Amino acid sequence: MNDTAKTSLPLAEYIESIVIKQKRYYLTGQTRSVEFRREQLSRLRGAVKRFEPMLMEALKQDLNKSELEAYTTEIGIVLEELSSALRRVRRWAKPKRAPTPMTHLGASSRIVPEPYGTTLVIGPWNYPVNLMLVPVVSAIAAGNTVVMKPSELATATTRALAEMIRETFPPEYVTVVEGEASVSTELLKQPFDHLFFTGSPAVGRIVMEAAAKQLIPVTLELGGKSPCIVHKDAGIALAAKRLVFGKLTNAGQTCVAPDYLLVHKEIKPRLLQEIVRAVEAFYGKEPIRDEDYGRIVNERHYRRLIGYLEDGRIVYGGQTDEAKLKISPTLLEGVALDSKVMRDEIFGPILPVIEYETTEELLAIIRENPKPLALYIFSESSAFQRRIIQEVPFGGGCINDTLMHVGTSRLPFGGVGPSGIGSYHGEFGFKAFSHYKSILKQTSLIDFPFRYPKSGWLSVIR
Ligand code: NAD
Repeated sequence: MNDTAKTSLPLAEYIESIVIKQKRYYLTGQTRSVEFRREQLSRLRGAVKRFEPMLMEALKQDLNKSELEAYTTEIGIVLEELSSALRRVRRWAKPKRAPTPMTHLGASSRIVPEPYGTTLVIGPWNYPVNLMLVPVVSAIAAGNTVVMKPSELATATTRALAEMIRETFPPEYVTVVEGEASVSTELLKQPFDHLFFTGSPAVGRIVMEAAAKQLIPVTLELGGKSPCIVHKDAGIALAAKRLVFGKLTNAGQTCVAPDYLLVHKEIKPRLLQEIVRAVEAFYGKEPIRDEDYGRIVNERHYRRLIGYLEDGRIVYGGQTDEAKLKISPTLLEGVALDSKVMRDEIFGPILPVIEYETTEELLAIIRENPKPLALYIFSESSAFQRRIIQEVPFGGGCINDTLMHVGTSRLPFGGVGPSGIGSYHGEFGFKAFSHYKSILKQTSLIDFPFRYPKSGWLSVIR
């Protein structure tokens, strides 16, 4: 159905032709009926189920994801998002009445959600199914057409996604354009009606600059250094287990992974012991040999991560396997706050451990870096939890857990400032892909004279 795989046209012309086709199709009005949107969401659900084995296989190939991880962090999340949209899209798409003030007596007010039109979704390699398809669910639910540009680094998954979309939708409605950054550069010259980008803050800036040239609205889902705080009153064993779960899912290559650990001095030795216990319970005494332990996406990232091992003292782990691109779960102590490992987003299985004594000290360390995408607090004290939530700006997070806030379509998912602009999931995704049109319907039955020039109204009420 979809003809994007190969073309004889030069890249720029090819991309222009896709956008022209999609804009033309959008103008037919087909994508706007809620029935049509629901049909397409059902088609996509069927396709994801049909392609599940192929997607699983591709994720294993690209990132050594186990079936459990591939389902719980990618395919299952897309299916859940589809069910939620199918159940609720009618309600989301309905115009909403709004109150009308007395000054507008006789009028009524409505807010009408309207699709943006032709949209572009650019995604990263780390959750290549989830982070490409969840925005597409929102875009379809909101009545748009979509051009998808998955990451060239998740080669097998990108290919599987392209095949799935080609079999499911005509290209004038939803299509995949494969390729490297140069393809994004060409896409970003096109007059899209909305850009949805997931990736690094550095590329986020490029996307926003391109959008600024044409004043295209954007949603940017970026990254950053997400702290994990374990306070002295936390349940230590459980905190360790959940921290390790969050850090080692996809070998730490998760935008919301705990990037570094801030632990209260009093409990540090016990927490580190429990972390090691949890790592070995999940991946054995030699995690690097474990079949289900993720691998680093490519050699460039593998080298980048190995470089961080110089920035501190390895107190656990530190084993590497270049042939398999694996790095064992590693705890680093004695890291300087201005070292690279504490400035860059780590995006791998290396966890710097920093101790603190006072909450002021803790806050000062977090403020060394830009507003993070996520933050995790392990503590049984509501006052402590409240203080951190009030005083630290961050995208979203969990109390006494990691990652799980991303797995619900009832919470908005997004960053703030350098970690992102806008949010999505569930109705928030529908909103991200919609413009909310304000309509004031005035009565023609009465016409108050005081609004007009020289009515003398101001002198009456003063
Ligand atoms: P990236 O920014 O390098 O690439 C993302 C996409 O942008 C890819 O499709 C790539 O082809 C394209 N791209 C690369 N260079 C480009 C350029 N110069 N112009 C236009 N497009 C370009 O990110 P990545 O390495 O794939 O992913 C890792 C980053 O993404 C991390 O910073 C991580 O935190 C972030 N991330 C964020 C989320 C989130 O939901 N907030 C999720 C996953 C990853």
